[in-house]
Amino acid sequence: MVHSSLTPNGKRPLVIAGPCSAESRSQLLETCERLARTGMVDLLRAGLWKPRTRPDSFEGVGDRGLEWLQEARERTGLPVVTEVASSRHVEGVLHHGLDGIWIGARTTVNPFLVQEIAEAVAGSRLQVLIKNPMHPDVELWAGAVERFLKVGVPITRLALVHRGFSTSNHWPYRNDPMWHLAFDMRRRFPSLPLICDPSHIAGDRALLLEVAQRAANLNFDGLIIESHRSPDEALSDARQQITPETLSRLLQSVSWPSQCSLDAEYLRTLAACRSEIDQLDAEIFDLLSRRMKVADRIGRVKRENDVMILQSDRWAEVVERIVARSSELRLSEHFLRTVLDAIHNESIEHQGEVMRNEK
Ligand code: PEP
Ligand code: MN
Repeated sequence: MVHSSLTPNGKRPLVIAGPCSAESRSQLLETCERLARTGMVDLLRAGLWKPRTRPDSFEGVGDRGLEWLQEARERTGLPVVTEVASSRHVEGVLHHGLDGIWIGARTTVNPFLVQEIAEAVAGSRLQVLIKNPMHPDVELWAGAVERFLKVGVPITRLALVHRGFSTSNHWPYRNDPMWHLAFDMRRRFPSLPLICDPSHIAGDRALLLEVAQRAANLNFDGLIIESHRSPDEALSDARQQITPETLSRLLQSVSWPSQCSLDAEYLRTLAACRSEIDQLDAEIFDLLSRRMKVADRIGRVKRENDVMILQSDRWAEVVERIVARSSELRLSEHFLRTVLDAIHNESIEHQGEVMRNEK
């Protein structure tokens, strides 16, 4: 029997696994059968058309792999998904009775392709996994979801895959997770399953578990992990792939915190912490409001004395003074600089209004 819902069944997170690329009939079938035997995999994945960054890399087996995917599906009884980058690919997937597709990070960046794929998918029963775009632009990711919704693909057939972003930060992972962007998408589309791709985030099998555990702690709905019958011989993404048996051990070591508990002590502590946080948040914003009123006063004296708003030396001093307290405050330098930046921008806005005689 083929199950086709992408929504986790509530008992455990959704697990999608399979090789980065289908390389040969025997590599695909052996990997998929070993994955199915673990009993821990809900959906199989394998790429046929590989969008590679460099032209000399293995670019996938293309159309001839469609039959192998169909065979893997029949032999394991598991649904199968593959990556598409054009309407022609979607036609191949439909023609071979596969269950779903994923839009790769290099395709999500391109609204023309996403539109073409959405139109080809509309009216079919395909499940659609939408990976985040290569660069950290949530609008493109959201735009891709909207394109599918607009052509009438029901939201229950869609899911998001967070595979990290290509930024200048290559440490310790291949792709920077920038977790907050995944949460931004969850806020925009609360009913979409959010699946983490530790393979493409980590880029290294030694780091898969920590990324998967992080996703579990952050309440992701599932994982997509690359698995190969002999990972070191893989033609693409060899460093990040693991055998089906290693995958099974990895999945057993990830612990998924339950989303809620009815334990009375837990509920009391949670309620007390939440009310303390609400109180502190209120104080933080009252203080910020007072701070802006002082900024208005500065604006007025600057106006009266014909002095420029922006005094960079003074601001650099303020920032350095606060950042120097980073370890004492137990707040990261990055966080302090981000908050100070936001405060400074608001202050400049306020002083600008005063200068324009609006206050
Ligand atoms: C893949 O899943 O093999 C792949 C190419 O992923 P991404 O689009 O995330 O790079
Ligand atoms: Mn890959």
